[in-house]
Amino acid sequence: MIQTDILIIGAGPCGLFTVFEAGLLKLRCHLIDALPQAGGQCSEIYPKKPIYDIPAYPSILAGDLVDKLMEQAAPFDPGFTLGERAEEIEKDEEGQFILTTNRGTQHRAPIIAIAGGLGCFEPRKPPVEGLVNFEDHGVEYIIKDPEFYRDKKVIISGGGDSALDWAIFLADGVAKEVTLVHRRTEFRGHLDSVQKVMDMAASGRIRLLTNAEVAEVHGESDLQSVVIKTKKDGMHTLETDHWVPLFGLSPKLGPIADWKLNITKNAVEVDTTDYSTNVPGIYAIGDINTYPGKLKLILCGFHEATLMVQSAFKRIYPDKNLVLKYTTVNGVNGF
Ligand SMILES: Cc1cc2nc3c(=O)[nH]c(=O)nc-3n(C[C@H](O)[C@H](O)[C@H](O)COP(=O)(O)OP(=O)(O)OC[C@H]3O[C@@H](n4cnc5c(N)ncnc54)[C@H](O)[C@@H]3O)c2cc1C
Repeated sequence: MIQTDILIIGAGPCGLFTVFEAGLLKLRCHLIDALPQAGGQCSEIYPKKPIYDIPAYPSILAGDLVDKLMEQAAPFDPGFTLGERAEEIEKDEEGQFILTTNRGTQHRAPIIAIAGGLGCFEPRKPPVEGLVNFEDHGVEYIIKDPEFYRDKKVIISGGGDSALDWAIFLADGVAKEVTLVHRRTEFRGHLDSVQKVMDMAASGRIRLLTNAEVAEVHGESDLQSVVIKTKKDGMHTLETDHWVPLFGLSPKLGPIADWKLNITKNAVEVDTTDYSTNVPGIYAIGDINTYPGKLKLILCGFHEATLMVQSAFKRIYPDKNLVLKYTTVNGVNGF
């Protein structure tokens, strides 16, 4: 049984920053994440993309932000249970939560902080026969490292920002050949990205197929070709090394949905005084929560984490006085 003060579900940016803010109050944290690595969406979906709205970083790669958050949390020696999904919670006779993962690992804590983001990541998969046979053998639903596609033939499907941005990025001297396939003629992404794709298509750097979709996948053990169905020309085969359908992630709260929390549109309702939920002792911060005016931004999650740990401290130590101390005055005294 792993015992801690705050059990954090989700090791995304908001979960990681909680470790630091809790550590300043001498509260220990343990993080559980279904993914094999920390960083949440930043590590899993866009590690190589620059973020421009982290205070004091005019630009920072999402992966580097995660590294910095890990470094900042390190003095407070957080524990990690990675690659396991938080599944069930119950309370013991002392009023502490017992949380069991899908692999049976048990954790005990007086406070639970849900920082579960979009929930467990589940990419929307196109209904193409035999697709599953090529997953990680030429079919990927997330681009983690663009270098993986260097000098390769890549087909990207989708009409949103991810599809447009990656098509532009890979066509700019990374992949050997980039084809962007979209079911419609209008794109949902930012206008400047759409314009850039159009320009690159006009200059022959991107092969753009609209009113089209991938209908079949073929190959031996690895993907070798796909059949594209277009409204204009019918079916034709295209040789490729990779097909990356970027149709988004379907938000699945997963087991959290069964924890008797008040939920609106796949997000946990919280009180903005301290980001507590309707279940005393359980808080929710970051993308997973909802309240009037909510913005799903990293910097908002950092603020929520900071207020949340103050309230958690008062729940754990109702008789202790909590005085805000500047880090400039007190420094960072780890465990
Ligand atoms: C392409 C893209 C670009 C973005 N750009 C920006 C930007 O420029 N600026 C900005 O501020 N934000 C940006 N965002 C949004 C930002 O990434 C999110 O706001 C942020 O990641 C939320 O952090 P989080 O810690 O709340 O959750 P997440 O990063 O979603 O992490 C949640 C973690 O919880 C885990 N989890 C969920 N349920 C369970 C469970 N039951 N058991 C175990 N683990 C669980 C998940 O596996 C995940 O790792 C962008 C998002 C995307 C997709």
